[in-house]
Amino acid sequence: MSLAHPEILSHGLVPPQAQRLFAELKPPLADDQALLEADRCLVCGGPTAPAPCAEACPAMVDVPHFIDAVAHGDWEGAADLIFRSNLLGATCARVCPTEELCEAACVLTKQGRRPIEIGRLQRYATDLALRNPWSTFRTPAPPTGKRVIVIGAGPAGLVCAGELALLGHHVTIYEARPETGGLVRHAIAPYRLDQEPLGDEVRRILALGVELYLGKPVDSPAALRRLEAASDAIFLGIGMGKDLAQPYPGDTLPGVWNSLDFIEAIKLRHLTDIGRRVAVIGGGNTAIDVAREAVRLGAEEVRLLYRRTEAEMPAFRFEVEGARADGVQFEWLTNPVGFTGEQHVTGVLCQRMCLGEPDASGRARPVPQPGSEFVLPADTVIRAIGQEPRLEFLQWIEGLEVRQGRPVVNPATGQTTNPRYFGGGDVLNGGGTVVAAVGAAKIAALGIDAFLRDADAVVPGEPVGSQEVS
Ligand SMILES: Cc1cc2nc3c(=O)[nH]c(=O)nc-3n(C[C@H](O)[C@H](O)[C@H](O)COP(=O)(O)OP(=O)(O)OC[C@H]3O[C@@H](n4cnc5c(N)ncnc54)[C@H](O)[C@@H]3O)c2cc1C
Ligand code: SF4
Repeated sequence: MSLAHPEILSHGLVPPQAQRLFAELKPPLADDQALLEADRCLVCGGPTAPAPCAEACPAMVDVPHFIDAVAHGDWEGAADLIFRSNLLGATCARVCPTEELCEAACVLTKQGRRPIEIGRLQRYATDLALRNPWSTFRTPAPPTGKRVIVIGAGPAGLVCAGELALLGHHVTIYEARPETGGLVRHAIAPYRLDQEPLGDEVRRILALGVELYLGKPVDSPAALRRLEAASDAIFLGIGMGKDLAQPYPGDTLPGVWNSLDFIEAIKLRHLTDIGRRVAVIGGGNTAIDVAREAVRLGAEEVRLLYRRTEAEMPAFRFEVEGARADGVQFEWLTNPVGFTGEQHVTGVLCQRMCLGEPDASGRARPVPQPGSEFVLPADTVIRAIGQEPRLEFLQWIEGLEVRQGRPVVNPATGQTTNPRYFGGGDVLNGGGTVVAAVGAAKIAALGIDAFLRDADAVVPGEPVGSQEVS
């Protein structure tokens, strides 16, 4: 991803008006707050019926018991329970859409009460664990002699690698970028998670014996063949590719951004002078994040353009409400058809839409209203309409069935139609959440383990330790 965008300021400093961008939306709980909050929990569930909050967690964290441990002042026990289920438990504590998952399922809401702040309690326990000399952790099983290659060091790749190492397999990760974390590092809004605690969690995963090669893209069929020869199974944790390209007249004008470039620039403190009026195009969580980031960067007027109505928006409800509370304005039934300006963008040429018959996604199809064009003035425009699948890479894998840009897998094992390949995370779901990637990676690790224990016919190849793959 290039940062050579004309709007990037070279100094990399955070101007005073943008300090808010890095201020956490959900600050940590103090000791007394954590105890009080944990004390409200009813510790639901039992041997026959798990607590609804735990059932709603894709990583299957034992929520009631970790909260009970916090309530008894036992943060070590709480952290142990969390990390047992989720090797990225501290990262997820900050970035999980808890309002849609565990907290939405909390029984207290059915009683008209405020749900337990599960995410913040999880952060409390895991932060204490990572800050203190805390050693409780699962110990790897004896070596099995099997070798697994993991491609991609995003959440899916990291968790799958850690779980496989715990099962006794030798794991090597190849990551294209110079650092781990995938979209967590580059895309997740800075007011949710900036730098930490990912680094600490990665160090703990590597301490299980996982080998990691950074800056090593698997970038050709020949590189892939070499990895196949050197391993018994391969996990695809490659996520999705760059922003979807939808060419419009004027889209190369300075001031027109793709969402991932924009977010990466601000996360790297290569902040932009975005002007007074910002238009964001899209209706998903990324569009909402970008709009909220623009507000925090000091824009006076941020408008989000979406071609359907609020009811069809894929973004989480609580995110839409958060954006509204931040002052983001919404232009429903509005579709961009071009950008105006000469030296720099000055506006978005828009068309009003109305809703027609449902399309393939089951949502009402937006239909242009003839003669409804208008120009929405804008100093900066950010397009956030989704990411492309990594189709070229997927085509290099023999026998891999791909539907709608995603490898077809057995959902119980993550195994693809090429039996030695497994997958999890965004590459399979087209763009989800970190905790969904964690859940899928855990399923795939167990699937790979089962495959390897029956797959004695597969001859292990040469060691991969010093291997160049590109
Ligand atoms: C703007 C934005 C905001 C988000 N905010 C949130 C949020 O607040 N909360 C939340 O839970 N989720 C959020 N998400 C989603 C979340 O970040 C992803 O679901 C998650 O990171 C997916 O993990 P992954 O490991 O599958 O893929 P990724 O995180 O994309 O990681 C894939 C990794 O594979 C590497 N790779 C790809 N191809 C190759 C190759 N050929 N060779 C070697 N390496 C390769 C990539 O460099 C990358 O590091 C957000 C996503 C976006 C885009
Ligand atoms: S559902 Fe709510 S009250 Fe019950 S265990 Fe989970 S967090 Fe506690």
